[in-house]
Amino acid sequence: MNSENELITHARMMYDRGWMAGTSGNLSIRSPEGIRITPSGRDKGTLRTGDLLLVRERGETGHILPVRPSAELSLHQAIYRNRAGAGAVYHVHTVESNILSEWATSGKLCLPLLEMLKGFGWKPEDPDPVLPVFSNHPDVGAIAREVDQLLSRESGFRLPGFLIRLHGLTVWGNSPEEAFKHVELFDFIFRYMLQSRFLSSR
Ligand SMILES: [Zn+2]
Repeated sequence: MNSENELITHARMMYDRGWMAGTSGNLSIRSPEGIRITPSGRDKGTLRTGDLLLVRERGETGHILPVRPSAELSLHQAIYRNRAGAGAVYHVHTVESNILSEWATSGKLCLPLLEMLKGFGWKPEDPDPVLPVFSNHPDVGAIAREVDQLLSRESGFRLPGFLIRLHGLTVWGNSPEEAFKHVELFDFIFRYMLQSRFLSSR
């Protein structure tokens, strides 16, 4: 299966899990020609081969209006610019990521030291994992600039993702398969955090 068809399969799976409801979320892959991204306003459960829009380096699309690339394209571009190894970026709106985004302090959410973290390449000798949480500025470009700043100056181990407050989860991976795995790992960790807090408060 090629990368575009893999992405479309993942879009359908994530739509079925309620992570891309109401045309929300957007997915992209890096190709030699540029970024291929889901179009704005499309139901993610019914994407087909050829639906992805090509956005070349300078921003022009390979398609004719009124089909537009996702309004959150700039988030994807900020990641690809700063992560040479990123081959796919997935952005989803899950209930759990929205709730947990409100638990952050000073723009950071500390994650519990679950075995699942090893799926991100985290090792026990690495610093405790912290997920950045950005403000949900009305201008997506302003969020993308903050993402750009953070990713360009970091060093050491960093989780391949971030939250936007009351908005959703964005991850990247070296392939669509890895990006999908990262969404699933974060989802598991978020559900653990929610359920453990709920149980301890009873
Ligand atoms: Zn979004």
